[in-house]
Amino acid sequence: MVDLDRLKEGVRGKKLIVFGPPGSGKGNRSNDLKALGLVAISAGIVLRNRLRDEPNSDLSKKVAYHMKKGELVPSDIIVPIILGSLEQRDVLERGFVLDGFPRTRDQGKVLFSRIDSDLVLFLDVPRSFLTYGVIEGNRRVCPTCQKGYSDFDPPKEEGLCDICRSRLVKRLDDDASIIEKRLKDYDKQVKELLPLLESTGKFQKLSITVDKDEEIDERLLKKIKGEVYWVETDDGGKARMLNLEGMRMRLYNLIWEIFVGS
Ligand code: ADP
Ligand code: ZN
Repeated sequence: MVDLDRLKEGVRGKKLIVFGPPGSGKGNRSNDLKALGLVAISAGIVLRNRLRDEPNSDLSKKVAYHMKKGELVPSDIIVPIILGSLEQRDVLERGFVLDGFPRTRDQGKVLFSRIDSDLVLFLDVPRSFLTYGVIEGNRRVCPTCQKGYSDFDPPKEEGLCDICRSRLVKRLDDDASIIEKRLKDYDKQVKELLPLLESTGKFQKLSITVDKDEEIDERLLKKIKGEVYWVETDDGGKARMLNLEGMRMRLYNLIWEIFVGS
């Protein structure tokens, strides 16, 4: 068990980036890091909040047009929004976790010319789970605090957020064909972006799967209808997966090693 107070101290002022394919749990990992005091900035959430707060502005209309089709919002819109939010005083003091940005090599170049990141976290999730988790797992999200749920990690009371009790909603781009498109686009973008992320020297993989011989409490595993869920891995094998709580523990252990040490 890590000491949360020391962990909070250790990450204070740090600049973290969370990266991974659609449906890999970026939002949930960001929330876990936010719980340690970092400011969570998510490109997707910033954009969805814009749409919610000013649905009729020209900018929102452009954003909605691209988001609905599962396309990236043009850089001239997203780049100033993200850079602007990172350079606020409070954000620099507390530190931040940025997710959903950069998504392209060009965005990465702009970002790393402005900030030195302390950790670039890559969420490693088997391909076969990405669509499955979102569609079959019936992904839903809290519109207020942005916590994500699915049938693998359901809320305590169906339809309501555990944290803030808001009514859960489905995202407008969580549709099977649009997910496929987002994954295809991601594959293209990642080829160009990954070398840049790795070149920061701060790159770390965080895997959602559990090794066969790893002993682990069943309460930390993804289950569906009470049974431990086995996913097909990218190399054709089978593996168990961590649930929200399991991933939070794995994440906290990793950042403890990096920022606090033993
Ligand atoms: P996911 O990672 O599950 O695809 P996000 O919430 O990160 O979901 O993004 C949702 C949508 O917001 C994207 O499909 C895209 O239209 C837009 N978007 C998010 N991040 C960026 C970005 N860095 N650049 C351009 N558009 C983005
Ligand atoms: Zn909530």
